[in-house]
Order: sequence, then structure tokens, then C-alpha cells
Amino acid sequence: MAHHELFVLYQAQADAQGQLVGAEALLRWQHPQRGVISPGVFIPLAENSDLIVSIGQWVLDTACDQLQQWAQHPATAGLTLAVNVSARQFQQDDFVGLVRQALQRTQIPPQRLKLELTESTVLDSVETTIAKMHELRTLGVRLSMDDFGTGYSSLQYLKRLPLDQLKIDQAFVRDITSNPADAAIVQTIVAMGHALGMQVIAEGVETQAQQQALLQHGCRFYQGYWFSRPVPMAELLALFPNTR
Ligand code: C2E
Ligand code: CA
Ligand code: CA
Repeated sequence: MAHHELFVLYQAQADAQGQLVGAEALLRWQHPQRGVISPGVFIPLAENSDLIVSIGQWVLDTACDQLQQWAQHPATAGLTLAVNVSARQFQQDDFVGLVRQALQRTQIPPQRLKLELTESTVLDSVETTIAKMHELRTLGVRLSMDDFGTGYSSLQYLKRLPLDQLKIDQAFVRDITSNPADAAIVQTIVAMGHALGMQVIAEGVETQAQQQALLQHGCRFYQGYWFSRPVPMAELLALFPNTR
């Protein structure tokens, strides 16, 4: 895999009014023979080697470049950009230093950058992770817990994690309109997140009915095909007139 074969698509994150509030950077690999390969296929492979570290660094740099662009226009200056961080990348000794460098290089407002961690990243070494999360918070960067509800983290850890956002996994959104258990779980995650001072966003929102059910359960931020597929940046901004 060569770096020029990698590119990033952006998926909208919207609020209850349907306004764009930010995006998630999602990696793609343009394979010379096989076409576009999804990260679900190559990220797990890259995670077994240090390749994930250089790929992750490239995504972080690309996201900060994008935030630098956004900062130049009032209509986009307030948007946040979320970046997925793999466990191995996060656990580099100098990860916080690398984030600091990217912020200094691009001079972006740190609070516009959101790092998405997973429960397994946190559970790998809880004390070191919590310390690192505090350092990142001190830089001003925002932290989100991705795929929330699918891992094994206990509430004991959750209360100690300096998180800005919980991201409800799409597994709970899929059947939210028909499965009362999923609806109850979503309602509980939302209430708990808000009580802990966190923003709550749902992913995998594919229909208006799902969005309305989420809103009914108190969730006011959404990501999913109902709003936009992952697309190139120009396409994303064209979909949301308030950014022009
Ligand atoms: P994720 O972080 O949970 O990202 C959400 C995935 O759900 C994305 O798949 C997205 O395209 C897809 N999705 C979004 N909206 C909907 C929807 O409404 N319905 C359905 N069914 N799916 C939806 P994608 O882009 O294939 O990425 C898969 C995973 O690869 C990501 O899951 C993330 O874990 C990983 N990934 C992507 N980019 C990066 C990256 O830059 N670094 C790292 N470490 N991992 C990445
Ligand atoms: Ca994610
Ligand atoms: Ca996710």
C-alpha cells in the first residue's frame, strides 16, 4: 500500500434541525488493480503491523489540513472533524506529541478536532490511557467513544474517562423503531451520557423514522445515510447549503 493510494471520504454529522455540525473522516484505499477497498478489510490487517501507525498519522494530518481549510470560511469554521484512532496508534509513546505537532503545524482551533476511540483501546491499559486522554484534553482536543455499547467497558471506567461524546453504535439504531429493547438501551445511553456531561451522537441513521425515534429518546446528533453517505469534501458541502 502506497500513501498516494489512500484517500479520505467525509460523512456528515447533523443536529436535530438537519444542520451540518461536523463530519467523520473515513479512510479508503484505491488499490491499483482491485479498485476501492474498504477500511473494514485493510485496517484490521494494518493493525497487526506498524503500518497502522503511519496510516493513522497520514489521516490525522489530512484531517488537520481540512480543518485548516474550514477555518478560513465563516460558514465552515465552526464544524468539527472526527478522526478514528486505532489502539496501536494511540498507544505510541509520543501520540500526544504527534497530535500537538499537527495542531501547531496547521494552527487550527484544537476543539474542532475530535478523536474517536473504542472501548478496546481504553481497556488495553486503562491507567496509561486515562492519563493520555487527560493530556489530549489539555491540548483542547475533543474525545469521543466510538461504537459505544458494543464493548466490555464497565461503568466504573466510563465515569473516569474524560470523554466529550458517546457515539451510540449502529447496532442499537438499526431496529430502534421496532425493537423496544433497543429503544430502551438508546434512551438509557442518552440519559447517562447527558448526566455525565457528554454529547451523544447516533451512527447508522438510515431513515427519518430512526432519526425521529432517536430524537424522541433525547439524542440530538446523528450520522448516517439518511443525511449523507461518506463522500468527497466538495460533495459534502454541496449537500448542506448552510456551509456555503
Ligand atoms: P466506524 O468508525 O464505526 O465508521 C462507521 C462505518 O459505518 C463506516 O464504514 C461508514 O461508512 C458506515 N456507515 C455510515 N453510515 C451508515 C449507515 O447509515 N448505515 C450503515 N449500514 N453503515 C453506515 P467504513 O467507512 O467502511 O469504515 C469501517 C470502519 O473502518 C470504521 O467504523 C472504522 O472503525 C474503520 N476506519 C475507517 N477509517 C479509519 C481510519 O482513518 N483509521 C482507523 N484506525 N480506522 C478507520
Ligand atoms: Ca468511527
Ligand atoms: Ca462506529
